[in-house]
Amino acid sequence: MKKALVLGCGGFIAHHLVNRLKDEGFWVKGADLKYPRFSKTACDEFLQGDLRDQVFVNNLVDQKFDEIYQLAADMGGAGYIFTGENDADVMTNSALINLNILDAAHKSGSKRIFYSSSACIYPEYNQLDPDNPKCSEDSAYPAAPDSEYGWEKLFSERMYASYARNKGMEVRIARYHNIYGPEGSWNDGKEKAPAALCRKVAMANNEGEIEVWGDGIQTRSFLYIDDCIDATIALTRSEFEGPVNIGSEEMISINNLALLIADVSEKKITINNIPGPEGVRGRNSDNKLIGEKIGWQPKYTLRDGIEKTYPWIDQQVKNNK
Ligand code: NAD
Repeated sequence: MKKALVLGCGGFIAHHLVNRLKDEGFWVKGADLKYPRFSKTACDEFLQGDLRDQVFVNNLVDQKFDEIYQLAADMGGAGYIFTGENDADVMTNSALINLNILDAAHKSGSKRIFYSSSACIYPEYNQLDPDNPKCSEDSAYPAAPDSEYGWEKLFSERMYASYARNKGMEVRIARYHNIYGPEGSWNDGKEKAPAALCRKVAMANNEGEIEVWGDGIQTRSFLYIDDCIDATIALTRSEFEGPVNIGSEEMISINNLALLIADVSEKKITINNIPGPEGVRGRNSDNKLIGEKIGWQPKYTLRDGIEKTYPWIDQQVKNNK
């Protein structure tokens, strides 16, 4: 039986990943500070603990794994990573996790390791025009991410790549672009735009108003969780090291995302744009490289994904009343 180690599997993406690996017949060991919030973990063995603690990590990585997926990070949406209030924690916590995991993975004899980087590494100067952002993989340098979260990801990308160069690790690096779907954060201060807007719409009256941060003209693309898991596994098992974008090329303004969610909810919502943290002006995935290297493209349209996500958040809102 193949063995996988999944870090951060109390969190959104890794929890879904564990379910998929179990469906495939893997034996899965996982670790996180916390258990998944919305459904039981499918891990065969789950160690609750702090990946910043080297002793904990060395005990955790106690054998050779066929695949290691590193998705633990101190992260959240714009309200968490763009306000500046959490910068020291974000940088220290995530860097320590990555340092500990790489060292322990190498010492365990495990080779294949996936690292979840982010579109937030891309330079701000290429993302000033909402209609024409540039996020091809080769545009990462000269580096100028707009957040410390992005700088830490860039540092860790380089650290993973150096373990491939110097220590024989088979590293696979993805730059995720806004992953969303059921069982993601929706009300804990770490939620991202799709979940936050679904929550606001779910809480609004039939002809209500919702607040949207910024002028709403800022653009993004959003990838549905099932597509993200497909791409993550395909990249990990491919011969391509990356870094490579894992995202959708269906770019939309944040106001139009809010209107799409309102449409799915069948409510007549009006938008009130208010000042708030919003990140770069424009961002879109560029999927040329991943298409060429591993032949992956998303299956879900944004509307398909919202039609699966909105009802889940609507139910959470009702359950919390
Ligand atoms: P998440 O916050 O739901 O999951 C991260 C998990 O890491 C959490 O469960 C958290 O408890 C855990 N963690 C944090 N610090 C820890 C520590 N010291 N010890 C043990 N566990 C710790 O985030 P997610 O959305 O599932 O993202 C997974 C990965 O993908 C992260 O590396 C994130 O930076 C990256 N990423 C995500 C997105 C996205 O849109 N969701 C976009 C770009 C990159």
